[in-house]
Amino acid sequence: MVCDCCLKRKRLFESFAAVETAEGTINLCVVCNDLAYKIRDDANERNLEKFETHLKELDKRGKKAKPIFLNWKKQFVRDLESVLKSEADLASEEGKAAEPEMGEKPAD
Ligand SMILES: [Zn+2]
Repeated sequence: MVCDCCLKRKRLFESFAAVETAEGTINLCVVCNDLAYKIRDDANERNLEKFETHLKELDKRGKKAKPIFLNWKKQFVRDLESVLKSEADLASEEGKAAEPEMGEKPAD
């Protein structure tokens, strides 16, 4: 098994993350999976600077990424970018403004 992002081969005792997508399951090594989580956290924290830094790191790792991963990432990033942009609309959108500051959402 290889990571669908950086194509690194899975070693014994190493655990890869499985991401279910519309096109099938994506396998991610610990480092790529970690970066994906960081990117999501950055978006939720509206931290554009960190978001872009981590995204660039993931892009760099995924230079030879498989199409299934790239398709998933495209949608993943698009969704997160709308989260990031929602900051500007926060004041005008009453529903989202009610989100609690400390509201830690469970991962998936
Ligand atoms: Zn990887």
